[in-house]
Amino acid sequence: MAGLTLGIGLRRRGVPVTVWEAGHYPRHRVCGEFISGRGQDVLARLGLLDAFFEAGADLACTAAFYLGKVGTPVRDLSTPALCLSRFAMDALLAGHLRQAGGELREDARWREDDYGEGVVRANGRRLQPREDGCHWFGLKVHAHNVLLAADLEMHGSQTGYVGFCRLARGVVNVCGLFRRPAGKPESAQTWQDLLRGEPGTPLRERLADAAIDQGSFCSVAGFSLKPHRAVSRSECCIGDALTMIPPVTGNGMSMAFEAAELAIGPLAAYSRGESSWSEARQRVAEACDRTFARRLAWARCLQWMMFAPRLRARLGSAVLHSGLLWQTMFTHTR
Ligand SMILES: Cc1cc2nc3c(=O)[nH]c(=O)nc-3n(C[C@H](O)[C@H](O)[C@H](O)COP(=O)(O)OP(=O)(O)OC[C@H]3O[C@@H](n4cnc5c(N)ncnc54)[C@H](O)[C@@H]3O)c2cc1C
Repeated sequence: MAGLTLGIGLRRRGVPVTVWEAGHYPRHRVCGEFISGRGQDVLARLGLLDAFFEAGADLACTAAFYLGKVGTPVRDLSTPALCLSRFAMDALLAGHLRQAGGELREDARWREDDYGEGVVRANGRRLQPREDGCHWFGLKVHAHNVLLAADLEMHGSQTGYVGFCRLARGVVNVCGLFRRPAGKPESAQTWQDLLRGEPGTPLRERLADAAIDQGSFCSVAGFSLKPHRAVSRSECCIGDALTMIPPVTGNGMSMAFEAAELAIGPLAAYSRGESSWSEARQRVAEACDRTFARRLAWARCLQWMMFAPRLRARLGSAVLHSGLLWQTMFTHTR
């Protein structure tokens, strides 16, 4: 989505664009499927927001958090999140790129090691099998008959957390992030067991009568949630290829849209011959670092609170019950 969005923005400035996409559209992706933060403003500035609503996007206005059996009250989000399935969203962006005159090559993998002059790396997460002695993996599936207390819900468990997001036509997106210690053998738990959580928890109740859309199931693994600075990269990169923000923030798509917008001006100037490639790359990198550094630091702190076993219970419960702490975390991670 970072690459498609950049392509749309560059086409609006008359820059020739070719997007190489290893997969094809539409297709399901592991994602919580809600856009929270400044990315919504980017979509508005690029004239894409109406198309999102026409494609069935809805606003999430409330959220609730649970750790095991304990939950917060349902809280209003200070800024609503925009919810749309990646199945619809990515295809929508692909269509807009083509309409704007961009060339989109599907089922075409970029195989060069070199991301040299004129090439932007927007190919998502960088493969990293383990981090801090753990394997991270994500699971997602769509379901019907899931009764939620809030538009967005997050349920923490011993091994990770599961998020719910209300989508159009009664569909609920169920998406989890989990970790497994690298030395520990894989458990016999199926993906359904992992998403359903422990008996007696609100998470288990939510999925008790769920009708799962098996065709929407997908998974992802091998990623790093440590922040990276753009100026330390030798390529021009945006989105997850630059750095991943912990998914608990629900801000990754927003960062992909924001980085794409930050890159439009410098790359259009390069295309007009007003700057060299290395100047353009440097300007994009500095703009991304300025915009994201503080947010990534707060997000790392939130991720640590979610997963540090001893502190989790105390701090997690403090965040659950303190409206101020929750508001601070929410504001600083987007
Ligand atoms: C469990 C989980 C939950 C999440 N929940 C949320 C959420 O609720 N809200 C949110 O905002 N973000 C969320 N995110 C993060 C969000 O999904 C990403 O930040 C976002 O997709 C990044 O967009 P991108 O364009 O950089 O990468 P991607 O969306 O991954 O796109 C990269 C594209 O590059 C293609 N590609 C890869 N290699 C090549 C190649 N060599 N040649 C050609 N094409 C290639 C891939 O096929 C893919 O289509 C979540 C992430 C995870 C893991």
